[in-house]
Amino acid sequence: MKLNKHYTELNESYLFSTIARKVREFQAANPERDVIRLGIGDVTLPLAASVTEAMHKAVDEQGRKESFHGYIPSEQGYEFLREAIQRYYAKNGVMLDISEIFVSDGAKSDLGNLLDLFDVDNTVLVPDPVYPVYVDDNVMAGRTIHYMAATAENHFLPMPGEDTEGDIVYLCSPNNPTGSTYSVEQLKVWVDWAKAHDALILFDAAYECFVTEPGLARSIYEVEGAKDVAVEVCSFSKIAGFTGTRCGYTVVPQAIVKENQSLNKMWLRRQTTKFNGVAYVVQRGAEAVFTEQGMKEIQDNLNYYRTNAAVIGKALEDCGVWYCGGKNSPYIWLKCPGGMDSWQFFDWLLANAGVVGTPGAGFGACGEGYFRLTAFGDAERTREAAARIKAAIQTL
Ligand code: PLP
Repeated sequence: MKLNKHYTELNESYLFSTIARKVREFQAANPERDVIRLGIGDVTLPLAASVTEAMHKAVDEQGRKESFHGYIPSEQGYEFLREAIQRYYAKNGVMLDISEIFVSDGAKSDLGNLLDLFDVDNTVLVPDPVYPVYVDDNVMAGRTIHYMAATAENHFLPMPGEDTEGDIVYLCSPNNPTGSTYSVEQLKVWVDWAKAHDALILFDAAYECFVTEPGLARSIYEVEGAKDVAVEVCSFSKIAGFTGTRCGYTVVPQAIVKENQSLNKMWLRRQTTKFNGVAYVVQRGAEAVFTEQGMKEIQDNLNYYRTNAAVIGKALEDCGVWYCGGKNSPYIWLKCPGGMDSWQFFDWLLANAGVVGTPGAGFGACGEGYFRLTAFGDAERTREAAARIKAAIQTL
């Protein structure tokens, strides 16, 4: 028996465990200090009433012989949910065939599982900084990764240049951690590049629900022709608080055909072999997200987080700290003040404001010198944190 040697090539992810240890040590040394956490990307508001009502009803159905659902007829997801997702896209002007939509237990699983479809020899392009899962998924498989620097100069939105080469490119928009969001026009450049280079785009739209600004893309399929070259992964985690309930979906267009093989058919084959679908109860809950009442409740929740982002942004503006994000995204990406690096600022902010954030360096080398705060916290605690951050930075 031989192990997958590529696991030894993974960088140990010290980010969240180091943060947890530092906070524990700080609290042990300062038991009287109140610490506010604006570090992790989890939501804090509960599921919307429409969602839990639908799930309760589905649980009761499962408890009666005449309405019990066993193995899901299609591993791809119940039609009622795929049709609801189809209508959600159509409202945004994107027409999908129901056969192109695959329901999953979340974006994270699909982002890893999709790689089953591609040869190990493909070169992968990954933005830096970004959600660390893309890198680890490919290191585990032994693929070569090239990084695309996302910097203040390119507004944290890398674009292809004349010498950009790669077979699979990850785009995350709105971006975790920087909050930067591609416009439809910018994505068109990527789509054209992918066509010219026979490459595939894996578009992570997990935060699309936060986009409000006209011209910015919620889906890569807003670009004409994107269905030829892009797979889109999305999630109910951020739009509807499903981080602990688990549901997402992936769009694999019928138009993607490589080496005479349909990517959609390959993904269907992969899913029907290795996946038995998402729980009926969860799919009914996800369906309720798209009802008129569900959407209203969900917009109230998104507005709650948007207000948190505005509160944090205002505090940073008041003390002259540069930041981006927070407008079409729940993440605020700030430049560490006083010339501090990411971890120095982490320690300084904890000691001087009792606030926990995430050091930018944890998302990639280009994140050094930056820091991520999230708007997913409780509103009152976020106001308190923003006031403390402002007061502390003003002493610098
Ligand atoms: N994609 C991005 C960019 C994320 O930040 C996250 C979670 O934070 C995910 C995907 C994972 O989503 P899910 O909860 O659906 O697995």
